[in-house]
Amino acid sequence: MLLISCPNCGPRDETEFHYGGQAHIAYPESPNDLTDREWAEYLFYRENTKGTFAERWVHSTGCRQWFNMLRDTVSYEIHSIYGMGQPRPDLKTTSPKSEPDKPGEFTQSGDFGQAGEPGLAPGAASPTATTPISSEGV
Ligand SMILES: [Zn+2]
Repeated sequence: MLLISCPNCGPRDETEFHYGGQAHIAYPESPNDLTDREWAEYLFYRENTKGTFAERWVHSTGCRQWFNMLRDTVSYEIHSIYGMGQPRPDLKTTSPKSEPDKPGEFTQSGDFGQAGEPGLAPGAASPTATTPISSEGV
């Protein structure tokens, strides 16, 4: 359970709040000029951050005001609470535990994309290419 400090009301129980998704998603200036893909990305595509994430919350059973929160999605630690329209605050990076032991880097083994079928020179016509397709012209 989170204890969330509403900017207006002070610390309150998480159950008084509702999550409102990723913060700082600006409404497009001219939505009519967007392609369908751009519009869909505005509507549906959100970051899925592991770590510090800026999100919107509303104090739904209290003052009903929206605000932004900078929260760690792993530890649930609340770094900052700030008003709507305010820029995302810069966190003094307290050097998050950077994994010292990197997992083995993925290296291409070279097993893929080597020579094609044996016996076929590049550019040589495949024997199946000239085989007429039985269903053709039916
Ligand atoms: Zn409030």
